[in-house]
Amino acid sequence: MSATGFRVGGLQPTRTVEAATTQEVTDVIQAAGRERQAIVVCGGGTMLETGNPPDRYDVELRPVMAGIKEFSPDDMTVTVEAGSTLAELNGALADHGQRVALDVPEDDRATIGGIASANAAGGLRYAYGTPRDLILGMTVIDGRARRLVLGGKVVKNVAGYDLARLLSGAYGTLGVITELTLRTHPVAESTQRLVFDFDRVEQADEVRAAIYASGLPLAAFDLEAEHSGNRERWSIAVTVEGSPSEVEHQRSRLAELAGAAPKDAGNGGRELRRPSRYEFAARATVPPDRLLPLASTVSDQLDEESRRFLHGHLGSGILRFRYLGEDAGSAVSTLETVRACCRKEGGSLIVEDRCSQLHGVIDAWGPPPAALPLMKGLKRKFDPANILSPGRFVGGI
Ligand SMILES: Cc1cc2nc3c(=O)[nH]c(=O)nc-3n(C[C@H](O)[C@H](O)[C@H](O)COP(=O)(O)OP(=O)(O)OC[C@H]3O[C@@H](n4cnc5c(N)ncnc54)[C@H](O)[C@@H]3O)c2cc1C
Repeated sequence: MSATGFRVGGLQPTRTVEAATTQEVTDVIQAAGRERQAIVVCGGGTMLETGNPPDRYDVELRPVMAGIKEFSPDDMTVTVEAGSTLAELNGALADHGQRVALDVPEDDRATIGGIASANAAGGLRYAYGTPRDLILGMTVIDGRARRLVLGGKVVKNVAGYDLARLLSGAYGTLGVITELTLRTHPVAESTQRLVFDFDRVEQADEVRAAIYASGLPLAAFDLEAEHSGNRERWSIAVTVEGSPSEVEHQRSRLAELAGAAPKDAGNGGRELRRPSRYEFAARATVPPDRLLPLASTVSDQLDEESRRFLHGHLGSGILRFRYLGEDAGSAVSTLETVRACCRKEGGSLIVEDRCSQLHGVIDAWGPPPAALPLMKGLKRKFDPANILSPGRFVGGI
């Protein structure tokens, strides 16, 4: 982020506006609509490169309203302003033994509005779902500068289409989220992160299937790959939560299923990577039982350095990887090869980050879905002047 704001898709905004109230957000959108200026909403900026470069980028809008507006410990719901970071929110809820069960990296930068808008979730998605599953309601200012209150404050509350879920995963193309009501969960009494290593992907896949079939109430069920030289290492990493005896029970049951004792995971700090001329990060999604075969295929496409960033969520069939290389041609062919594998399995691949040299060279979303005309119709309803992140989304929306 430079003095004049976050670059998005290689473009720089002409102005940055910090909006501290819903009314200020409304004013910015009204003015941009009058002047036909394009807005990109920016939270903490940890995932701004997901999507294609915007067609235009005049205003960087930062919703900086922060804080808890309402907390109902008995109903296990919290209403929070969208500019709050996940760390701030869970820090405050922890005093009451509760949390919003989401775990994204850099949670001291990632905002609740950005997490909701990207439907971002880490390993805890296995037990608690993604933001879409935790959002009860939200306040949004759409591209017409209308204030929309979607959903409600209690679990399963309103009749009709669940529009709050529609806005989650829309990446700021339909409206600016200013406030959210979320389900909370108790903070676990005891938590352990356990790792089981395997030299062969087939071995790991057998144990994955056994753990999945065991129905153990795991909090997170992830894949990590740590290959060095010709030695492959596939790791199943799980998080177990509960009372100390429940955690101990799950630990010994998992050791039985894996046929080996687990190792306790370190804190898995961020790994430094060598600068590369060409680089992109992608998220592939396939049916869960096809994840490890896909990971093996992807691993074969990558060099040793890139393989260190291969990780995924076994319960959701999500694989994240990073391509590091010296020529655009192999970057594009790696992407297309993996995308073809995903499509063959009925899945998809999204580019979540890329170096500026690959802007306009690789498409973030892949072939447009059959429902594109319907999606375009929705976009016109929420943002007829096409001022919110124009061109960034699927099919050029
Ligand atoms: C190293 C790394 C690893 C990551 N790993 C994962 C992972 O494993 N799983 C995962 O899901 N995510 C992952 N993320 C992504 C990241 O954690 C989330 O997407 C992040 O939570 C986004 O929050 P943010 O405030 O930084 O949003 P930003 O990056 O600022 O914005 C994200 C998107 O949301 C839109 N947006 C932001 N605020 C609003 C708002 N108030 N209203 C409407 N739209 C808005 C933006 O326009 C943009 O399209 C990773 C990020 C990093 C840096």
